[in-house]
Amino acid sequence: MGLAFEHVTLGQRVLFGTGTAAPSLASEVARLGARRVMVITSNRARETAYRIAADVEVALWHHDVAMHVPIETARKARAAAGEHGIDLLVCVGGGSTTGLAKAIAMTLRLPIIAVPTTYAGSEATNVWGLTEASRKTTGVDDAVLPVTVIYDAALTLALPVAMSVASGLNGIAHCIDSMWAPGADPINAALGAEGIRALSHGLPLIAEDPAGTEGREQALYGAYLSAVAFASAGSGLHHKICHVLGGAFNLPHAQVHATVLPYVLAFNAPYASDSEARIAAAFGTADALTGLQELRNRLDAPKALSDYGLTADGAAEAAAVVQPTVPASNPRPVTTENLTRLLQAALSGEDPRCLLEH
Ligand code: NAD
Repeated sequence: MGLAFEHVTLGQRVLFGTGTAAPSLASEVARLGARRVMVITSNRARETAYRIAADVEVALWHHDVAMHVPIETARKARAAAGEHGIDLLVCVGGGSTTGLAKAIAMTLRLPIIAVPTTYAGSEATNVWGLTEASRKTTGVDDAVLPVTVIYDAALTLALPVAMSVASGLNGIAHCIDSMWAPGADPINAALGAEGIRALSHGLPLIAEDPAGTEGREQALYGAYLSAVAFASAGSGLHHKICHVLGGAFNLPHAQVHATVLPYVLAFNAPYASDSEARIAAAFGTADALTGLQELRNRLDAPKALSDYGLTADGAAEAAAVVQPTVPASNPRPVTTENLTRLLQAALSGEDPRCLLEH
């Protein structure tokens, strides 16, 4: 069959440069003609945000940020933005902070400038997420896509190595899942492959030299590519699993992605030879799983879901919930039985090669 596909690239401006966040933000606020700027940042990133916004007139500082965007947190932030007549949102932080800006943009239709400090990639997607009564809901709305993303590796220097590793593997998970997600196409695959190459080059540099910026620049660049691929390809098997584990069991986002990824790769690889070869080439290894596992071993990456509080009963429950949501595009047929096997292996940290059957 010839080459045929339908692809949508989301439009946003990206400004990338170490040490340039402050002037980039000032020029973007001016370009957008904003007069009432709200800066959203956690208490942790407060000082960083003050520095970045030094040349911007800020109408409202908002520091009430929580993991997975609880609905009450979103309601308070929306009310504050409305009361202050805000016309531009600036978020400085990880995926949770970006998520809160998106929750405001969803209802108030305000533009966002995102200044990410992790490799989660939310800044490059039009997906929002909210948590209500322990249930996480997500949806797609172009109004939540930041108009501008400002990447500055200096802002990630404070991200501890273990968190950088987990977050970077979250980025690699976007790349790998994009190979077989419902909207997988050659453009996403190309972005995903370059994302794997950049992240697998950058993360070891961060581990070896946490105070250096070269590895952190590579990781940010890779994280952006990974998110663009994910935004277009949508959620594949890996994201369906992690969404349920994060939402129903409140497990930490990046660490869960980092742990589950080799199991999904081992599970699908024998059924997806083209993607497998592409991932292997991006890692520069003979096969894809070897590439991922060599990197994970080098980085001392998270290994078992039991370390984050998941139990055998929880794994079985998660498999039953995930199975009906698995996209038809998944290369390997997924049953509750083989999904339970995958989750049990990830639970105990068993060698993922146990899933490499055909
Ligand atoms: P996070 O934003 O919760 O940050 C993780 C931890 O790292 C927090 O304690 C935070 O304070 C700290 N941190 C962040 N940047 C730091 C820095 N530079 N230095 C020191 N500490 C820092 O987690 P995350 O992994 O960035 O994002 C996860 C969230 O993003 C989840 O809720 C997930 O669902 C969401 N997400 C959404 C999308 C999307 O497309 N909508 C994509 C990816 C992730």
